[in-house]
Amino acid sequence: MAMAIRNRLFIDNEWRDGAEGRVFETFDPATEEPIAAVAVAEPEDVARAVDAAERAMKGEWGRMAPERRGELLERLAGLIDARREEIAALETLDMGKPLRESLANVARSSRTCRYYAGAVDKHLGQSVPVGHNAASFTVHEPLGATAHITPWNYPFANACRSLPAALAAGCTVVLKPASDTPLTTLLLGELCAEAGFPAGVVNVLTGGGGSVGAALASHPGIRGITFTGSVSTGRRIAAMAAERVVPTVLELGGKNPLILFADADLDNAVTQTLRGAYTNAGQVCTSVSRVLVERRIHANFVEALAARVRGLTIGNGRDNPDIGPLVSRAHYDTVAGHVRVARERDGARLVAGGARAEGQPRGWFWQPTLFDAVTPDMSLAREEIFGPVLAVIAFDDEAEALGIANGLSLGLTSGIFTRDIQRAFRFARDLQAGMVWINEWFLSPVQTPHGGVKESGIGREQGLAALANYTQSKTIGIRY
Ligand code: NAD
Repeated sequence: MAMAIRNRLFIDNEWRDGAEGRVFETFDPATEEPIAAVAVAEPEDVARAVDAAERAMKGEWGRMAPERRGELLERLAGLIDARREEIAALETLDMGKPLRESLANVARSSRTCRYYAGAVDKHLGQSVPVGHNAASFTVHEPLGATAHITPWNYPFANACRSLPAALAAGCTVVLKPASDTPLTTLLLGELCAEAGFPAGVVNVLTGGGGSVGAALASHPGIRGITFTGSVSTGRRIAAMAAERVVPTVLELGGKNPLILFADADLDNAVTQTLRGAYTNAGQVCTSVSRVLVERRIHANFVEALAARVRGLTIGNGRDNPDIGPLVSRAHYDTVAGHVRVARERDGARLVAGGARAEGQPRGWFWQPTLFDAVTPDMSLAREEIFGPVLAVIAFDDEAEALGIANGLSLGLTSGIFTRDIQRAFRFARDLQAGMVWINEWFLSPVQTPHGGVKESGIGREQGLAALANYTQSKTIGIRY
């Protein structure tokens, strides 16, 4: 398929090289071949992009009627749909995930644009009673130029998670994708221009996180930051934002527990665990990374799950296997390191996988891996691995399960599998997580708020509430 590969900075609806002409390479994780040399933004490019985003706020965009903003978002959704195969192929090439998953991510992205296209005029203010001869009401004003810094696991869908909400609210956007996977975000810049967004409304900068990302997040013209990525980078972003008192949404990591009781539908639990743990080779913030299983069904569950795990196919994402390669050499080494510690130091029992996938001459392929006899103190049960590595932990009663589930500093999502509705609601109340899913995993469509508690983040994306991430309230009062 003909693919338009964009590799320059997208600023003010124009493509330009970085000020110093420097580039970095992005690789196909299935073949380790370079795909393209991509521009490195310098501090003056960051300043130029933020300046364009600030100027756009003062121009036509700043005065545009909300319904017109909605029309532009609708157009963007239509363009994404029209080029879905090209975007998905590019995502698979750059990131490695199976084509089927890339197509689903692209469909979700256009759906998100449509959702916020319909939301442009529904972020209502309030009329507040202040007495006879007086009135007071609130209006929501856009923050201004906002920075959106995204990770490599869902490059297009993550950019399209926050961008439509920011545009619906009337903000302008500077996107900074991860260096491992910049290509579909650059293409998104082009689609935004084609949809008719005025110059400067959407800009895309590429380059390193510590340099370009940090320069963007700390730029005085940036009035709001949405960051999706690791806890450690999230802390740095929060510190930069604190310096200038800028509102920030942090969507960070997880170590998400699926809690399985003996009374649950076992087949469903196995299917949902498989899906939750190995989708996108486990490189998902909301993946299942710990299964807590009631001891009396533990052996049956592990046997049934292991059979399914061993049956998963691995290959180049283009060929639509169950599992594609990991995103990069560095990430492959990290995952391999976690598995080594689990086997050699902590003594977890390896049930399936545990090594590089056979039959792949090149590429960063790791077998879907399943560990049993994991105890809550092992690093396998505590640290986010962000790969196709699942830990099974047995428990005896509800209190023990809840204690293990809540025993970490992370709290992104969680799941409870049981037929006992009373128990399901008790857990939904007591689990320390931003999301609780009952008897199914990944219940996170765009209309539902998404985000974590504790060190998994601050704020929520998705849903109508996300419009508040990009606006501030002004109270206007009058006495007459
Ligand atoms: P990362 O924190 O290394 O990088 C994320 C982004 O931040 C990249 O664009 C990177 O270039 C940039 N960055 C790095 N250092 C920076 C700095 N000092 N200043 C500004 N920007 C900087 O994360 P990653 O490895 O790309 O992504 C994996 C992590 O993302 C996992 O922890 C995962 O759980 C998390 N994640 C969370 C969600 C969610 O919705 N909660 C979704 C996807 C991924």
